[in-house]
Amino acid sequence: MKKNIKNYNLDSLKEELKSINEKPFRAEQIFTWLYRDRVSSFNEMTNLSLELRKKLEESYTIGEFKIVRKLESIDGTKKYLFDVQDGEGNLIESVLMQYHHGYTICVSSQIGCKMGCKFCASTGIPFSRNLESGEIVEQILAIERDSGIKISNIVFMGIGEPLDNYNNVMEAIAILNNPKGINIGARHISISTSGIVPKIYELADRQMQCTLSISLHASNNTTRSSMMPVNDAYPIEELMKACKYYIEKTNKRISFEYALAKDNNDNLEDAKDLVKLLHGMLAHVNLIPINKIEDGKYTKSTNENIIKFRDYLNDHGIVATIRRELGSDISAACGQLRRQNLKK
Ligand code: SAH
Repeated sequence: MKKNIKNYNLDSLKEELKSINEKPFRAEQIFTWLYRDRVSSFNEMTNLSLELRKKLEESYTIGEFKIVRKLESIDGTKKYLFDVQDGEGNLIESVLMQYHHGYTICVSSQIGCKMGCKFCASTGIPFSRNLESGEIVEQILAIERDSGIKISNIVFMGIGEPLDNYNNVMEAIAILNNPKGINIGARHISISTSGIVPKIYELADRQMQCTLSISLHASNNTTRSSMMPVNDAYPIEELMKACKYYIEKTNKRISFEYALAKDNNDNLEDAKDLVKLLHGMLAHVNLIPINKIEDGKYTKSTNENIIKFRDYLNDHGIVATIRRELGSDISAACGQLRRQNLKK
């Protein structure tokens, strides 16, 4: 089976070329063709010999996705359903959103998800595999190709748990960061996790400049475990300890996601516990009115409650904002992504 050339960052591509008896400097040429010129075939890489182009063609693919479906929201948000062209008929979703500071893409990190969060539509999808680094990167390239837009920010908030696919996500970020390629700086990339504690420590030790978002959603273990099974493995105390370590190591602010569901996690007691948890931490709380999913038991908190919750946090020294909802009419809002038609 052919390998995806987009799975390599510049350094690993040099090694790969050495292993097939080619000069490592070719890596930079190939990288530029792929990520600056955005060619769709090896044959277009005209500063490589015909022989080398043929050799590459025989062993590698360029890994372009095919758009299966594209939905556009009244707010301009676009949801893409891609065929990853892996011969298995696997499909993934990515979302393009416009904010005042530019275009943001919400990428998927896995095909399906193992985490089982009760409020999330991706839970209905059986996990089939991790996305390769090239497949993570291709989500950005395919959307830029289709829309003619230059993406400025990336959030790992699509389908899957990025820290459960740690190595490929790190490789993809290395490709995205490279100034000779797509050149999106780490500060413009957010990784969102349901709270895989050991990986948060690894991320901290790596001193990455990405933003870390923690899907917290509850301020006590009983409620959090009822919403997120991962809390049984890594309860709130352990999660907060890892977060404090992360902040100490990186000096970066963590963003805590909190999806408000009526009569579940949205009363003043919850807000009080949240203040206790985050007291003194370099943190920001992102409040999301929970999106109801098919057969889901959670419904959005009332606007009045959401504002009360936010004000309580702000009045007690915790910076909290309410996230603007985009794309809900095309099932592209938080937690609504699910791979459509399972297989083609
Ligand atoms: N697995 C990662 C990233 C994917 S989910 C994580 O858990 O963080 C991206 C964000 O959307 C997470 O904060 C997730 O908790 C949130 N989310 C999932 N379902 C939601 C829903 N129905 N309403 C609001 N937010 C939701």
